[in-house]
Amino acid sequence: MPPDAFPYVRVVPENSRDRAYDYAVPDALRGRVGIGMRVRMPLRHAETSGIVIEMLERTEFAKVRALSGLVGETPVVPPALFGLARWMADYYCAPLAAALHCILPEPVRNEAGALVRLWVEARADVSDEDVLAALGGRAKKQLEAWHHLREHGGGWFGDLCSETGIGRAVWQGLRDRGFISIENAEKERDPFLRLPDPVAAEHAPNPAQAAALAAIAEEQAKAAAGEKPRPVLLLGVTGSGKTEVYLRAIAATLDAGKSALMIVPEIALTPQAVERFRARFLGQKVRVAVLHSGLSRGERYDQWRQIREGRARIVIGARSAIFAPAEDLGLIVVDEEHEGSYKQEEAPYYHGRDLAVMRAHLEKIPVVLGSATPSLESFYNAEQGKYRLVRLPARVASRPMPTVHVIDLRMKSKPKEGEPPPSVALSPRLREAVTLRLERHEQVLLYLNRRGHSTALQCPECGHVEMCPRCSISLTWHRSDGRLRCHLCDHAAPVPPKCPACGAPDYRYGGQGTQKIEEVVAKEFPQARMLRMDSDSMRGKDAHHRALAAFAAGEIDILVGTQMIAKGLDFPRVTCVGVINVDGALQIPDFRSGERVFQQLMQVAGRAGRAETLGEVFIQTRTPFHPAIQYARHHDYDGFAEQELEFRKALGYPPYRRAVLVRWKGKSEEKTRFVAEQIGKKITEGMTAGNLGEAGEVAPAAIVRIDGLFRFNQLLLTQRVPDVSRFLSALLADPAWEEEVKTSVDVDPLMVA
Ligand code: ADP
Ligand code: ZN
Repeated sequence: MPPDAFPYVRVVPENSRDRAYDYAVPDALRGRVGIGMRVRMPLRHAETSGIVIEMLERTEFAKVRALSGLVGETPVVPPALFGLARWMADYYCAPLAAALHCILPEPVRNEAGALVRLWVEARADVSDEDVLAALGGRAKKQLEAWHHLREHGGGWFGDLCSETGIGRAVWQGLRDRGFISIENAEKERDPFLRLPDPVAAEHAPNPAQAAALAAIAEEQAKAAAGEKPRPVLLLGVTGSGKTEVYLRAIAATLDAGKSALMIVPEIALTPQAVERFRARFLGQKVRVAVLHSGLSRGERYDQWRQIREGRARIVIGARSAIFAPAEDLGLIVVDEEHEGSYKQEEAPYYHGRDLAVMRAHLEKIPVVLGSATPSLESFYNAEQGKYRLVRLPARVASRPMPTVHVIDLRMKSKPKEGEPPPSVALSPRLREAVTLRLERHEQVLLYLNRRGHSTALQCPECGHVEMCPRCSISLTWHRSDGRLRCHLCDHAAPVPPKCPACGAPDYRYGGQGTQKIEEVVAKEFPQARMLRMDSDSMRGKDAHHRALAAFAAGEIDILVGTQMIAKGLDFPRVTCVGVINVDGALQIPDFRSGERVFQQLMQVAGRAGRAETLGEVFIQTRTPFHPAIQYARHHDYDGFAEQELEFRKALGYPPYRRAVLVRWKGKSEEKTRFVAEQIGKKITEGMTAGNLGEAGEVAPAAIVRIDGLFRFNQLLLTQRVPDVSRFLSALLADPAWEEEVKTSVDVDPLMVA
């Protein structure tokens, strides 16, 4: 059907997450409107803008209003991204409007982030002679202003006034005489203005890196020849030089005239990776756009525009950068593909890595998934031949992997006469190892995935534990301000003067967080320079950058922190890593807890001994024989994957089937349970009747109450996600369900507890 023939369109207003409306296409716009384009239209009592999602021959509504205009002649959402939005909506059980909402970031919606300023320029048709003749010897200031403009070729009005000290009226006088123009223009902001130019070494690829690059090039060649390329899973141990592979593959992509996109888990936490990219491509005058949550909305808007207009040819960003509007992509890279932060924890619950694979599929280009510890989903896909597996089996320059020691915390060594009793946080062996590093002027990382000081404040008399009044977890004592805080909601309270249950005057401070470790280290190593890195201590905008710079400069001996210090850091002088305790993480009742702990241990261990000196890792635990710990100890990813896959297969868990978690939340426990059970029953019936898979029981979540809301879950296991999503969409669209209980659907949930 010719485009002129569509008299109606369906439009999602740019600030809607769930609604679409039909409009008539006025004659003037017939044939010019298309999917993904931005239009202006009346909505209720105002005019607004929206994105066209469908061309319609007819509409089911008797009376529709007409579009009032068209913004631009090309779609704001390019076709491949539009396809991605459709896939997201179908797969993740979400309205298309919600998917589009992800694709168009807030500053871009309605052009909200555009910075419009006054730009001053000398008119091209006016010469110096004209001005001299008109002004003669009078109006010295105007003459000075004119010469300044001629020399500098234009400028922002505000900047010109402050640079030259010439007042606004003078410039306006020039404009009134017709010599210069002062007009609205968009001003672009550069988020890198504050940062110094980075430097980074370039390495000739070693044979394994060269083989990986050849594999990627082969997939790109297939794509160029119109064949279907395969995703590449780059399994490279920590310190094997994956980043160098990404850099070279991207450089080759640019040489072929295409642009490239790389997503990284949390960009604020991995400034080193971004620095390496900037360093490598700055020299080649290629613009690198960086998208992350630390940008101002204006900066984000500018980056988006640069990408959309093809001026920035490399994009690096966190999860949402997978929606970067580049049109001529030749490669997508997902660094640390196993990372949980790729999962969006609100609707639509998408996974950035999976969207990367889908986007690459739609764009018919290769995607590289890199990790030292791939998710079992990706590893399984490689085993099945869906992905092409490429390995970097050893560290660069034949550097050995660090030696890993497992310290059994159950074996309390008795202190010798005259010695102080052993610390609960640092076992004697770890303390010895730290002492040695301090003597040798090397650096130490101490990792504990728990912030705060004491994770439970308990009455020694009656056993009472202070709980959050809004959540079903205990409060954590924070030494910095002496208050009790909930780590799930923002509740904070002073420590009660005496036990509220029995009136006993004192507490036992049990359980340890990073603040406690900091205290212990300060006491045991008073001469050491120490820094704590966790979300409490790293609050400011550049706090991370500064902390890591200080560490790199050797101004810090011991870095204590949460997973913030476990990821991606490449510091040659770190030769010792201590894992204070992993037992809490192993006890989380979730089928992925073993995988998660294994990944964390491998990653944090990977920070040690990355240069010439051999690294040592100490893992303290009360469950030394747990497979996650034992395989990590031997750096044995394949061994871990093999036994973990066996376990998953036996239970029919992912990656053998896909999980879908239906969640209910409500203020009243009774009502929430009731609604959950009612809907849950229908879901179970529908799953069985449609032969869609297996539905579990509706059950309270592992933490049943968070922020005042009670939570119930139902786990579905299926081979047919799109069918299940369609079924759930239809079922949940039924307005009969109560307002007070919210139902949401999380496809491929990270946590099923
Ligand atoms: P990974 O991301 O795999 O943990 P990196 O990419 O951070 O590893 O590389 C580890 C270190 O090795 C970096 O300091 C990097 O500059 C260096 N490196 C990378 N490739 C080579 C090479 N071919 N020869 C020597 N050093 C290299
Ligand atoms: Zn709470």
